[in-house]
Amino acid sequence: MSLGSVYGANAMGHYGWVTVRCRICGKWLNTTKDEVYICPKDKDRYRAYYCAACAKVLHYKCPYCETELELF
Ligand SMILES: [Zn+2]
Ligand SMILES: [Zn+2]
Repeated sequence: MSLGSVYGANAMGHYGWVTVRCRICGKWLNTTKDEVYICPKDKDRYRAYYCAACAKVLHYKCPYCETELELF
C-alpha cells in the first residue's frame, strides 16, 4: 500500500498540515484528534511524526537522534 513517497503527504489535499503520516507504519493521523508524537529536533528536517503505537515501540525516543518524543 505504498504511495511511493513519505514526503508526498500533502498531495492528499487541503489539510495536509493537520493530517500527517506516521513515519514508521504509514498510518494517517489527525493532529487535532489523534495522539501524535513528534521529535522536537527532527520535526522540520524529517517531518518526524509517530502514532501512539509506534511511539510506544520506540520507547518514546526518536529513532534518528534519540531525543524524547513530545506529544504534538
Ligand atoms: Zn505508526
Ligand atoms: Zn529526532
